[in-house]
Amino acid sequence: MTTLLIKNAHIVTMDDHQREIPEGGLFIRRGLIQEIGPMSELPETADEVFDLKGHIVLPGLVNTHHHFYQTLTRAVPAAQDANLFNWLTTLYPIWARIKPEDIFTSAQTALAELALSGCTTASDHLYLFPNGSRLDDEIAAAQEIGLRLQASRGSMSLGASQGGLPPDSVVDSEDSILKDSQRLIEEYHDARTGAMVQIVLAPCSPFTVTGDLMKQSAKLAREYGVHLHTHLAETEDEEQFCLQKFGHRPVGYMQELDWVGDDVWFAHAVWVNAEEIKVFAKHNCGVAHCPTSNMRLASGIAPVKEYRAAGVNVGLGVDGSASNDGSHLLAEVRNAMLVSRVKEGITGFSASPSPTLSGRRAGDEVRKLMTAREALYLGTGGGAAVLGRKDIGSLEAGKCADFFAINLNRLEYAGAQHDPVAAVVFCQPVRVDYTVVDGKFVVREGQLVTVDEGKLIEKHNRASKRLLAG
Ligand SMILES: [Zn+2]
Repeated sequence: MTTLLIKNAHIVTMDDHQREIPEGGLFIRRGLIQEIGPMSELPETADEVFDLKGHIVLPGLVNTHHHFYQTLTRAVPAAQDANLFNWLTTLYPIWARIKPEDIFTSAQTALAELALSGCTTASDHLYLFPNGSRLDDEIAAAQEIGLRLQASRGSMSLGASQGGLPPDSVVDSEDSILKDSQRLIEEYHDARTGAMVQIVLAPCSPFTVTGDLMKQSAKLAREYGVHLHTHLAETEDEEQFCLQKFGHRPVGYMQELDWVGDDVWFAHAVWVNAEEIKVFAKHNCGVAHCPTSNMRLASGIAPVKEYRAAGVNVGLGVDGSASNDGSHLLAEVRNAMLVSRVKEGITGFSASPSPTLSGRRAGDEVRKLMTAREALYLGTGGGAAVLGRKDIGSLEAGKCADFFAINLNRLEYAGAQHDPVAAVVFCQPVRVDYTVVDGKFVVREGQLVTVDEGKLIEKHNRASKRLLAG
């Protein structure tokens, strides 16, 4: 099949003009969108024709932060009610038992969940490699499922004996980390338009690696033109750690290490001040906003409105599945919209000497709330900008044929037919009906095309049981 025609759908382009086409279609050739518009302007036939009458079609969602392997350790009792540092120290010993086949299985589970939630490009941050595990194991899983992958070669080198947070058993030598990073870039990184796999270098966080490894990783990444990623300013604990150990707040520490630039994006970035937002804007650093994880671990609420006002690129991430505990990216779009409104409410309340029931003084001008379309932008174009990819994030001629479709005629959207875009964000997140990546179906009629879901669940649960049993 070289051409595919999608017809009669409600097309949401998310292009610069926010164009929506109520009775439109897409003409796709060899994985790229060749034409998009109302049906009257499109070719009448193709090698495969798909009538999506009654469906909304949106650009594939872009996930900017995840740890696939954590799908093996969701809702672990001792980590259910912990904040970040306690949560991590509870889980590290369990993760130390992970084997290479577990990396593959868990990546398939996470990617399958993502595909069923409309995601077409996923960034993953794998930062521990116990018992011979390799990043290659998750790349193989993504190639089999059919999603685009920004595979971040993570690392941890600062064990507890050196003043870091993780036990020494899950950290690696800096020499072997850098050698493996170079091997992965040379073997897998594809810089071309439409790339299915790109490599990213991603030391885990300020409290798990040395400053020297951060610097060496940045040097190596820039020699090859690959991007850099790390966790930053996730919690107040981390701020205290950085002030005590490095004499800097997290963002200042990144500046000292030359970890700023349009090739850098940070996960979370919750605990930042107004000056630090300007630093991100000046250097074009991106932010992976992970609202569900931030709520789950009581980390705080990232200042997304302030980032956007300053011109900082913001994308969305489901974060690891031990702190979400799911990989539903459309649900993340919804939570981004809702938690931004919580933040508005809190700010209004604290600023008000005589709050009304809505938390604002009578006569206050109405605060501008994040809209469904703005939240959707974070999950599409915003994410693409954070990852530095110009070939995804909107439906336009010349871009990758990555999209998802949802049948609007369902119980969850009953009563919301007047605004399909708002329906998919405001109403309960659903399983999507179609997900197409590179012009190929990964989800068809609500079912995964490239993996047997029942067998995967069985295999995954066996692996999870083994890890938790010790
Ligand atoms: Zn994370």
